[in-house]
Amino acid sequence: MADTVVIDGKGIAAPLQERVRHDVGELRRRGVTPGLATIIVGDEAASRIYVRRKGEACAQVGIASSHHELAADTSQPELADLLAELGADDSVSGILLQLPLPPQIDGVQMSAAIAPLKDVDGLNPVNAGLLAQGRESDALVPCTPAGVIELLAAAQTELRGARAVVVGRSNLVGKPLAALLLARDATVTQCHSRTGDLGAACREADVLIAAVGVARLIDGPMVRDGATVIDVGMNRTAEGLAGDVDFASVERKARAITPVPGGVGPMTIAMLLVNTVKATRLQLAAAAARGQ
Ligand code: NAP
Repeated sequence: MADTVVIDGKGIAAPLQERVRHDVGELRRRGVTPGLATIIVGDEAASRIYVRRKGEACAQVGIASSHHELAADTSQPELADLLAELGADDSVSGILLQLPLPPQIDGVQMSAAIAPLKDVDGLNPVNAGLLAQGRESDALVPCTPAGVIELLAAAQTELRGARAVVVGRSNLVGKPLAALLLARDATVTQCHSRTGDLGAACREADVLIAAVGVARLIDGPMVRDGATVIDVGMNRTAEGLAGDVDFASVERKARAITPVPGGVGPMTIAMLLVNTVKATRLQLAAAAARGQ
């Protein structure tokens, strides 16, 4: 479409970060400094870059951050001990265990070992369950899907009654995204690697979200005219970073589309900051309820 909107994730993230800075200022005046603890296990270069960016973003809004680097041969009980220690540490409001983890560590079990009120990635079964039950305000919702919803809102996307197709069903992105869209009254189809005719499913979408990890899987012929397309994918290819959407051919058909980079990525970081503040407030509310 000639007038396709390219959704500017950086621009949309900026006022959110400003709001977090304001909220952090208020908390600090009450004597509470939100703090984020990040953990990397092993030697993933990409994880280092993501975690460094997250630490920088925290510093910009006044959130304290601490970082824990564990060796690639760290055992699951050792990691569980660190998670328990951070769970009991009052200076830590949010815990982020950067994925991927080495093969000897079960990511699902470790997500369950993160204190639910500090689980800023929203992967603990308590938070996933609250979201599945539609209790979003009580939950810490995974950052990327929460950021996608903000992008859709900023691009004035009607979700009520819309046909939304999510390609991908991971616990981190696809599943929570489907729950968020359902809660906004979209009619949601979830696709995955066993979906029979992916193109036919995608062409049904008013709102199409790709969270797959396959460079340029979604191309123009798979997209309906006037659809809103969100590309979560971040794939390192020989030609550089590529999304799951073939931007050039899809841009011609979409009403609105996110670029890679500059779309979902900046929102994920902004939502991590939002979640760290939300986690702080949930902990304060829980302490007040206990009479502390
Ligand atoms: P994931 O855990 O690997 O899940 C990928 C999903 O895609 C799975 O459900 C898989 O189906 C499905 N899939 C794989 N190949 C497919 C195909 N050919 N057709 C249809 N579905 C297919 O990945 P993830 O963590 O959700 O991440 C997805 C992408 O988003 C990655 O590129 C990742 O780097 C990116 N990401 C970006 C951000 C950001 O901040 N921008 C944040 C998180 C993730 P099965 O379930 O059947 O295996």
